[in-house]
Amino acid sequence: MGDISGHQPGKSFRHCPGCGAESLAERPDRSVLCSGCGFHYYFNPAAAVAGIIEDDLGRLLLTVRAHDPRKGTLDLPGGFVDFSESAEDALRREVREELNLNVLHCDYFGSFPNTYVFDRITYRTLDLAFTCTIESFDPMALSDEIESTLIVPPSEIELDCIGFDSIRNILFRYLNSRSLLPPCTLL
Ligand SMILES: [Zn+2]
Repeated sequence: MGDISGHQPGKSFRHCPGCGAESLAERPDRSVLCSGCGFHYYFNPAAAVAGIIEDDLGRLLLTVRAHDPRKGTLDLPGGFVDFSESAEDALRREVREELNLNVLHCDYFGSFPNTYVFDRITYRTLDLAFTCTIESFDPMALSDEIESTLIVPPSEIELDCIGFDSIRNILFRYLNSRSLLPPCTLL
């Protein structure tokens, strides 16, 4: 596989994974079809989750990414959904793995498309956001994916420092829903 343009997923394979021939044709329905062996593959977005976690004072927990993509930028806890896993279970697992925190309750907030480049491959994802209640911040311990955390009053979040479009859009909608955006904020 080579570099995938986010808008041209059909460019991701040069040789057919079925027969090895250079006989793949990109089709207009996000798929590639091999004229030799009939291998037919559809590109679909991957599911991911993100957690909006507030403390007792209504401040939001943000993470600083320790690795690429977007190393050093602000993020929300979360990650990819595993096979046969619900989004809610993925959220609980990711929050536990990244921060050692236990999610007691989560409410669906919305879905936000994203583009995620890793090892020269561009993945298209659909990030499912949840507002979360956690048991306690006391056991917090960071995995090596997280450089540090910030606990920030929502009105002080710098949307320009958020690494991914989906996370910025989640926070934009969240702040907007609570009437916390300055009137001149445009994305
Ligand atoms: Zn083939």
